[in-house]
Amino acid sequence: KTWNQAAFTAELGKIRVHADEKYLAARSHDYFWYSPILNDQLKDLRGELLVMPQTVEEVKHVASLVARHRVPLTLRGGGTGNYGQCVPLEGGVIMDLTRLSEVIEITPGHARVQAGARISRLDDAARETGQELLMYPSTRQMATIGGFLAGGSGGIGSLRHGMLRDPGNISYVKVVTVEPEPQVIELHGDEIQKVQHAYGTNGIVVEIGLALTKATDWIHTAALFDGYDRALDFAIDVQQDGLDCYLLSAVERRFAPYYRKFGDYFPADRDAIFAMVAPEEMDRFRADVEAKGGRVSFAMTKTEIQEAGLQPAYECGWNHTTLQALKMDKGWTYLQVAYPRPFDPELVMRQMQRHGEDLFWHHEMARMDGEIQIFALPLVRYRGKDAMYDLIAELEEKDGCTIFDPHVVTIEDGGMKEIDDSQIAFKKLADPYGLMNPGKTRGWTADMARGEDPNTEN
Ligand code: FAD
Repeated sequence: KTWNQAAFTAELGKIRVHADEKYLAARSHDYFWYSPILNDQLKDLRGELLVMPQTVEEVKHVASLVARHRVPLTLRGGGTGNYGQCVPLEGGVIMDLTRLSEVIEITPGHARVQAGARISRLDDAARETGQELLMYPSTRQMATIGGFLAGGSGGIGSLRHGMLRDPGNISYVKVVTVEPEPQVIELHGDEIQKVQHAYGTNGIVVEIGLALTKATDWIHTAALFDGYDRALDFAIDVQQDGLDCYLLSAVERRFAPYYRKFGDYFPADRDAIFAMVAPEEMDRFRADVEAKGGRVSFAMTKTEIQEAGLQPAYECGWNHTTLQALKMDKGWTYLQVAYPRPFDPELVMRQMQRHGEDLFWHHEMARMDGEIQIFALPLVRYRGKDAMYDLIAELEEKDGCTIFDPHVVTIEDGGMKEIDDSQIAFKKLADPYGLMNPGKTRGWTADMARGEDPNTEN
């Protein structure tokens, strides 16, 4: 569909706008290139206009223009998603929210923040009050809090505080609707699920309230073991003992060449646990490591680790592990795997045996619904789409794992598995013309758009 870009631009007033190819190319992409399948599908797609509102009033103005011009709208925070979540599949307007970035208020146990604030800046602001975020993705430097809510799931801190969607982690959100006269809707409690992990398909999140906890000066540390099964056993035991950790990632020895900077801290003949441990727990951590036949190779504060020229422990796990490998070997891609509970390290050893050099493994310890949940994000040697889906079937059917498929663009195919009716119902309210991130949810069909759905009143 064509739209009148010149008229749209003229009506933007003072709102920052870019139409040159350089900006559009850069802001039309995210980290989908981890997947050769998505790369083929998405690499040439572009938005046609980039707008960067700085206030909620400006967001509402753009929302109104988008609705009146009936143009597709793709929201974007830091652009660090892996599923092509902020790639405009049908062109149109890209709304970059990184200028809507005020940390509005920090009070004991709570922060109010605009959605485009970078997570690192929010966490730093919380630390100035002796508090910290419950969790963040390993991309905290670039990612925004709105992007985390709409595209992420959990990460560093999830071992201690569960997944982002767990009750109490987010207290409220304010959402701007995409209509000629946009409204601001406030959602609380369970209602927040209506926009959580909705890939920006059903309203523009402009403000978020979230819980904070007392700050800890986490010790970034690594423990080395002679055997990946020993490393996994250790990780399970310390969690059962309730050791206070913010991060616990098991990384097998074949990753060592991708962590070259760490040298003897992560040698190629040992399997590693990268962790963030509470300072008062370090003696217990060391004793537990030694009891399992391992040794602690380093233990540093965040400042010390930066002075040593190393990356913090939170960049040694989750999807940063994939990034380290991809920087050196573009033949890899990856999968996201959730293990059946209770976790059995023997299953991992069988998988390692079965897949040999085709899969390299690392495992992330988290908590979901109050219980320990183990995830893996293995590197996968890419041998074509059919081989990828054979592998997914094998891991699901033979091993009982759940795969969050990172080679697809829709919310449902990527792991939610089914259409979330409450999100679609909210979309009818917040995006009645179906303009937001079109193509990212299977739950929306063209006939649902206002004026075309026989069941919807105009
Ligand atoms: P974007 O990529 O800009 O956007 C993500 C989605 O949210 C898009 O669909 C976008 O349209 C939508 N969106 C953005 N802003 C808004 C808004 N204001 N209102 C409504 N919708 C909006 N994810 C994790 O959960 N945990 C991890 O540990 C993790 N580690 C990662 C490591 C690496 C190396 C990489 C590349 C990615 C990782 N991710 C992880 C994925 C991603 O970094 C996070 O989910 C991040 O929080 C996304 O934030 P963003 O601002 O970059 O969002």
